[in-house]
Amino acid sequence: MAEQYDLVVLGGGTGGYVAAIRAAQLGLKTAVVEREKVGGTCLHRGCIPTKALLHTAEVLNTFRHAADLGIAAGDPVLDYPRAMARKDRVVNQLWRGVQYLLRKNGVTVVAGTGRLRPGGVEVAGPDGTRSLDARDVLVATGSAPRALPGLPFDGERVLSSDDVLERPVIPRRLVIVGGGAIGVEFASMYADFGTEVTLLEMMPHILPQDDAEVAAELTRILSRRGVMIHAGATVDVAGITVSDTGVRVPVRLASQDTATFEGDALLVAVGREPLTADIGLESVGVTVNRGFIEVDALYRTKAPHVWAIGDCIGGLLLAHVAAHEGIIAVEAIAGQKPEPLDPRRVPRVTYCRPEVASVGLTAEEAEAAGRRVKVGKFPFQANGRSLILGEAEGFVKLVADADTDDLLGAHIIGPHASDLVNEMALARFLEATPWEVGTSVHAHPTVSEVLHEAAFVVEGHPIHI
Ligand code: NAD
Repeated sequence: MAEQYDLVVLGGGTGGYVAAIRAAQLGLKTAVVEREKVGGTCLHRGCIPTKALLHTAEVLNTFRHAADLGIAAGDPVLDYPRAMARKDRVVNQLWRGVQYLLRKNGVTVVAGTGRLRPGGVEVAGPDGTRSLDARDVLVATGSAPRALPGLPFDGERVLSSDDVLERPVIPRRLVIVGGGAIGVEFASMYADFGTEVTLLEMMPHILPQDDAEVAAELTRILSRRGVMIHAGATVDVAGITVSDTGVRVPVRLASQDTATFEGDALLVAVGREPLTADIGLESVGVTVNRGFIEVDALYRTKAPHVWAIGDCIGGLLLAHVAAHEGIIAVEAIAGQKPEPLDPRRVPRVTYCRPEVASVGLTAEEAEAAGRRVKVGKFPFQANGRSLILGEAEGFVKLVADADTDDLLGAHIIGPHASDLVNEMALARFLEATPWEVGTSVHAHPTVSEVLHEAAFVVEGHPIHI
C-alpha cells in the first residue's frame, strides 16, 4: 500500500531538508527521501568539512605568527589526524541537529534511493521498496564532482574534493586543475599545511567569476605563500600520466611555453555535474538541459506538480541558494506568493586566506549592461581593527550606478569578507545607495567600517584615506 504525502522531497541535502522543514511548517505532510545521510554534500562532503579544516589552517597560521602578538608559542606542529577527527565531530554534531530538526517538525525521513513515477516516488531502501504517493514532488538531488574527460577519479592519485576530505594524509606535492572556489580553497589550505601546491586555471585569472582586481590580489597573496599559480593554462588532459608514485600533468602555459607539473596527487576541481540520471524524470515528463532540470522562476518543472531546486537545476551551485530556492518552491506549493530569487542579491564566498566575497555586479559587468558606474575602493590597511587582528591585506570595492546611485555590487578580499558581504547583500536587498551605507553608523573599531569608508569613497569624501 502506498503511503500518502502532500509533498515528497527527493534528496535530503541543504536544499531538500530546508524545503521539507518549511513545508511541514506550512502544514504539508512531508517526506524526505535520502539514500545517504541528511545534510547532503554541504554537510558531509562540502562546505562544513572544508571550512573546519580551513579553520585549522587559519589557526596554524595564527600560531606561526604568535610572536608578533607577543606570545612565545614555539613552532606549531599540525596533528592532521586530530584535525580530521575534529572536522568529523563538527559534521556529526550538525548532522544530529538536522535529524532532530526534521523529527521536531514531523518530517518523515525515508532511507533509500528514490525514483519518480506518475503521482509519487518509489524508494528502494535497505528494508525493501516503499511506495510514496505525493500531491507534489520536489527534486533536490544535487550534484557530484565532475571528472576530466577520460580521467576518472581513483581516490588515490586522481582526487575529487570528496576524496581529499577523506584522505588521512597531506600530499607533499599537489597539482590542482581548476582555479574556482574548490581549487582555491584547497590551494590555500594545503599551502598552510606545508604542501607544495601548483594551481592550474584555464581562464585568464583564478576565480574567473570574481572581480579581476580581487583575483589579482589573491594571486599575489597566494603566490607569496608559495602557491604556484598558472592562469590561462591549457592542461593536456590526454597527456596526464598517473603512476604508483604520483602524477605528471603537461600544460601549455599562457606564455605558450609548455611545462610538466608533478605531484603526489592531482585534485580535479573543474566544476560539478547534476545528479539527474536514473531518477525517473522522463517517466513524468520533466525536461533537462545538459543534465540540469529546467524550471521556471518558482522552480516548477515542465511536469505538473513536480518541482526542482538546488544544484540539480544549475545556476549558482551554492548551499544557501539551494536552501532559499527550497523555501520559495515550497511556499509556492503551499499557495503563497514568494518573492523570486534574484541571483544578483546572492552573496558568494571563497573561504581561502584571506577570504574573497562578493555580491552583485562587477564594474565591468555593469558597464556591459549599459550602466555608468562609480567605484569606491578602500584598503584594509587603513582599518584599525584589521591592523589589530594582524590581517590587513586586501580591499573592498563598491560599485554603484552613477545615474541612479543604486549600489550594484560589492567585492571584498580581506579578513571576515564572508561576514562583511552579508551587510552588502542586505544593502542590495533594501536597494540602498552608497550614501545610506556610509550614513548608517558603524561601530568603531570594527572590520565592517571598511564598507562604510568605501561608501564614502564612492561619495567622494573619504575620511581615513
Ligand atoms: P567552479 O566552476 O567554481 O570552478 C572550476 C574552475 O575550473 C573554473 O575556474 C574553470 O575555468 C576551471 N577549469 C575547468 N576546466 C579546466 C581545465 N581543463 N583546466 C583548467 N581549468 C579548468 O567549480 P569548483 O571549484 O569545482 O566548484 C564546484 C561548485 O561548487 C561550484 O559551483 C562552486 O561555486 C561550488 N563551491 C562553492 C564553494 C563556496 O561557495 N565557498 C566552495 C566549493 C565549491
